[in-house]
Amino acid sequence: MQAEELAYYPFISEASTYVEHLGISLGSLLNSRAYRAVRTRGIERLKEALEGEIKKPPISGEAQVLSELLSYPFARILVACVDDQLFTRRYALAEAKAAYTLLKNENPAFLLKFGEEFGIPAAFRDSYFNMHFTDYIRFSSSMKDPAWKLTNRQFRAGEVKITREEFARLLEEAIRERIEQSFPIPEIPSEVSDLCAPYIAEIKDQFEVQKKKFGATDFGAIEPKFFPPCISHALANVQGGVNLAHSMRFAMTSFLLSVGMLVDEILNLFNISPDFDAEKTLYQIEHIAGATGNVYKPPACDTMRTYGNCIGKDRLCERINHPLAYYERKMYLKNREDEKRKEEQTKRKKERKKEERGEK
Ligand code: SF4
Repeated sequence: MQAEELAYYPFISEASTYVEHLGISLGSLLNSRAYRAVRTRGIERLKEALEGEIKKPPISGEAQVLSELLSYPFARILVACVDDQLFTRRYALAEAKAAYTLLKNENPAFLLKFGEEFGIPAAFRDSYFNMHFTDYIRFSSSMKDPAWKLTNRQFRAGEVKITREEFARLLEEAIRERIEQSFPIPEIPSEVSDLCAPYIAEIKDQFEVQKKKFGATDFGAIEPKFFPPCISHALANVQGGVNLAHSMRFAMTSFLLSVGMLVDEILNLFNISPDFDAEKTLYQIEHIAGATGNVYKPPACDTMRTYGNCIGKDRLCERINHPLAYYERKMYLKNREDEKRKEEQTKRKKERKKEERGEK
């Protein structure tokens, strides 16, 4: 691919190789005045991702190509430093959506090559793409529209026939998955996080604003094992295909939104219910998430009891009066444990270094 094309799709392996060959050190990327525009674009990428859409302007000229290509690894370093599952998911989704906007207008030969990059072989015949049904299922399983169900597709000799736009949409899923799964980046050196600190602070501030807008509390990564018994019970029912009463549906949805789950993810949970109606469910979830201006909070334990939704009460339930307080308490205890463990690890590392230097 030409450098301009790589700049539109900086997450593909050819783009990484291109960047590697430029021989720019990480220190220069993070610190040098020469790459200030790159860092500005990287932050812009993340801010746009938080707002839902990374804009891809037409790219021309060496400077812009470089800025687009290098701003991607820079943005990734910041995502790794922010180290928040919800933020990572938002970023991966926004990068993938931006790519889809471009991909749906690419020619079939380009899309076939792009598919290979993601391990999705396909053929283009009679104006349609044909792909193996296992690849189709893998990347379409999260799609909410019933049109994506295998039973609603033209299916022959193990292959599914899809349009160019649909193939591009499946590629979007593959991109989202690749970016999301490339995090967390295991060891970020402390010098790197120190250099990134001012940018991280700026991004975190905007992330907080966005979370408040959508009613999500800062619980960090979602930990279903810490959900209160009433919500775990409702989730198990949904997963088992049991219909929930309207009041429990509302309580569960507003709870999941409050702990940071995305609308699409909740929609997929309901996708198994016998009365699943994608459009209606999406409308309900978005309504609770505040699409009409009101962000709905989950009901307190008293209200849950009134509607018969307080199921499986345990000892912690005796000490709280809201399902979110239950989760908050469990997360607090877990974070305290994690902190202790981290402190001990750092202490041990320091002692080991001292020993190595012969100071002990
Ligand atoms: S006491 Fe509250 S948190 Fe516990 S199960 Fe009942 S409603 Fe849920």
